[in-house]
Amino acid sequence: MKKYWLVGNWKMHGSLASNATLLNAIRERQPALSPYVDMVLCPAFPYIAQMASLVEGTGIQLGAQNASDHLQGAYTGETSPRMLKELGCGYVIIGHSERRIYQGENDGLMGRKALAAIDAGLIPIICVGETAEERDKSRTHEVLARQLDAAFGYIRTAHDQVIIAYEPIWAIGTGIAATPEIVQTEHAFLRSRVAQRDPSFAARMPIIYGGSVKPGNAASLFSMPDVDGGLIGSAALNAEDFVAIYQSLV
Ligand code: PEP
Repeated sequence: MKKYWLVGNWKMHGSLASNATLLNAIRERQPALSPYVDMVLCPAFPYIAQMASLVEGTGIQLGAQNASDHLQGAYTGETSPRMLKELGCGYVIIGHSERRIYQGENDGLMGRKALAAIDAGLIPIICVGETAEERDKSRTHEVLARQLDAAFGYIRTAHDQVIIAYEPIWAIGTGIAATPEIVQTEHAFLRSRVAQRDPSFAARMPIIYGGSVKPGNAASLFSMPDVDGGLIGSAALNAEDFVAIYQSLV
């Protein structure tokens, strides 16, 4: 059976109390996880340790929303991927468009962060995606290729493991998801681009979709052959919606 990943990005939301409530609500609705669908929750940094203890023994995995491109050193305010690994993370989101837009992160930094994450033993979830303007100007493939190539300049396909998240910026938090046909086209493009470097790596590389995934559109998006799961923002903050999306994969 095909394997899927469902990643919840909690962004800068939550509190000690609301995190526990949300996790309990998810667990009540989905007490046992499928061996074919990995559920990964990405809380804000201060809550990683809290969540690590809450998810222990549940099968739910933990991810972070960002990490430094260094493993340690004089980088005030940064968080090492090695620290995240020590606290129980298995994954880290790299290059989310909100970090590119608000923190000025660029393609090169994304590649270095992906490499540092891998070196710390984490699986980077590398976000790529075009703006509405880039799509309108038929520049989507140029942009995706540039972002992907920057990351793959650092990734050693012989042994590294990564997840690519296709997140068109015009679909994030807007309520307007890409159509299943657009998602399939872009995922197939991303896979073919990586196949030029390493066909067997590309064939097994998970590509997940993010951008206004909701219970009502999840099944059709996830039915596309090159879609290996989802990166969920706003719907991940609602247990009923998040579990309904999970169940569309099971
Ligand atoms: C995201 O921010 O990664 C995301 C996919 O958000 P939303 O689901 O709210 O569009």
